[in-house]
Amino acid sequence: MSKFISSRLYRAEAYVPGEQPRDMKYNKLNTNESPFPPSPRVVKAVDEASVKALNLYSDPTCKALTDCLAAYYGIEPCNVVCGNGSDEILNFIWQAFCDDTHGVAYPDITYGLYPVLSSLYNIDSEVFPLDENFNINIEDYRNTDNHVIIANPNAPTAIAIPLSEIRKLLEMNTGRLVVVDEAYVDFGAQSAVSLIKEYSNLIVVQTFSKSRSLAGARLGAAFACKELANDINLIRNSTNPYNINRITMAAGVEAINDTEYFEKNRRTIIETRGYTAEFLQKLGFGVLPSSANFVFASNKDFDGKYLYTALKERGVLVRHFSLPRISNYLRISIGSREQMDGLYIALKEIINGEKK
Ligand SMILES: *Cc1c(COP(=O)(O)O)cnc(C)c1O
Repeated sequence: MSKFISSRLYRAEAYVPGEQPRDMKYNKLNTNESPFPPSPRVVKAVDEASVKALNLYSDPTCKALTDCLAAYYGIEPCNVVCGNGSDEILNFIWQAFCDDTHGVAYPDITYGLYPVLSSLYNIDSEVFPLDENFNINIEDYRNTDNHVIIANPNAPTAIAIPLSEIRKLLEMNTGRLVVVDEAYVDFGAQSAVSLIKEYSNLIVVQTFSKSRSLAGARLGAAFACKELANDINLIRNSTNPYNINRITMAAGVEAINDTEYFEKNRRTIIETRGYTAEFLQKLGFGVLPSSANFVFASNKDFDGKYLYTALKERGVLVRHFSLPRISNYLRISIGSREQMDGLYIALKEIINGEKK
């Protein structure tokens, strides 16, 4: 740190992303990207229109995208805010709604950006432990004064809660916000977007990074009642009004419109997830029930960090978190069938080798 850094940041700790090796030599199953390229319609749209117009600013209202997302979900464009990745949306939410009296409440095991944003803005975080099976106990949140943020499905556990539980949260917290981070919702959970018409305290956050094959384009969205969407837009327009560039805007519209490609890919991921869970269990792993494009698994005979390292030596990159309660687990993204077969071969080798 330099001597010039703001005193606000003395205790800030940045988010640590999963490894992004530049040499591409790994079987990369560590950051939950899609193994499939963007839709051919996305590639075409980007090639044709947007590159030639890059001398001009992008549309600060993001009209093409918000119209398209609103139509997809049967809501109004005024209910949609686009972000440079859903991480930017989360940042907007912390800036717009958190202060000395309203911090945030979330589970002990969840997305690592939440505590990072709280420390950045000196916001109180109230942490409720998941139960012994890594399930969220909704009742924990009944008496909190803080806004509630839940990833559904949760990360890195991959476990989803039903919409009825989200409803309970919304009803027990009418004086606070309930933010539902649906980064993985397309792989098997129920989306809460339709509930924004009923609840004025709900914000749903989604991303194009996982199910829509656009991690590198950086695109996310928030869905909420008009008043909340306006508040989020206040921060967006005050910090980065051109946050969605032309190329990403064109890509995002086609990624939504090509429903056939989207449906096919998510079905494939869900099938491959079943295949992966099965062979992991055969190899002695316990696998949490996944509604996401990754599985969270542990093997009582092998240390999590050891498996992570041994896999990396064999060219397979998975995610390991050196954190309490989950240090024996691996978070494994669901890639193509070939990628998962590569994982299977490497794991078999490690496990058999160890026992010899
Ligand atoms: C991947 C992820 C995000 C961030 O997605 P981007 O849109 O790429 O910024 C947000 N929340 C959770 C739970 C995620 O896993």
